[in-house]
Amino acid sequence: MIGYRELRLKLTPQRIAILDYLKDNIEHPSADDIYKAVSLKYPTMSFATVYNTLEALRKKGGVTELTIDATKKRFDPNTKPHHHLICIECRRIVDIDVTYDLTLSGEKKSGFDIVGNHIEFYGICPECKDHHHNPKKEN
Ligand SMILES: [Zn+2]
Ligand SMILES: [Zn+2]
Repeated sequence: MIGYRELRLKLTPQRIAILDYLKDNIEHPSADDIYKAVSLKYPTMSFATVYNTLEALRKKGGVTELTIDATKKRFDPNTKPHHHLICIECRRIVDIDVTYDLTLSGEKKSGFDIVGNHIEFYGICPECKDHHHNPKKEN
């Protein structure tokens, strides 16, 4: 994630708390997850502050918005190109740092200048698999 200075955001303690929560976060949290976590420390935090900060960050390239989870938007402070693996049961999202040689040539580009790509892998995570084998473990 890019530094506070480069973001050129007006920094309030609440915004700093949001940035600190996102720094090195690999969970791909939703706005709601961020709100719940940060409001533990800042009970006066409003959801609007979280939402607006995320929006400002996104515009400045500080977070990537992921639409891989159909139930809610998720945010990724890792803005370097990478791919994702999502669990179709618990919606956990994991980074995949593999560079795939994906090229579109000639007509296949439909005249586009290609600026990137993103691969979504779907699967069932170890915890969910385990749950299938031991369904009684649920509490
Ligand atoms: Zn899962
Ligand atoms: Zn990611």
